Amino acid sequence: MASKTPHADSMTEPCESCGRETPHTVTVELRTESAAEENAEFSREPYRVTTCRECGGRRAQRMNDA
Ligand SMILES: [Zn+2]
Repeated sequence: MASKTPHADSMTEPCESCGRETPHTVTVELRTESAAEENAEFSREPYRVTTCRECGGRRAQRMNDA
């Protein structure tokens, strides 16, 4: 079973802006995809958002992508 973290957590990940591994705050956001207005029920996709603690850069990755 995959481990879930229900709250913001921090982990070290590579940051493109910093050019090295930095501590990141990791959160999950539900984002509405404008391309799927007719399927509002299914248009909210979970994104894993990482915020670099060094430069504040944010990156969002859709979690549903295979
Ligand atoms: Zn950074």
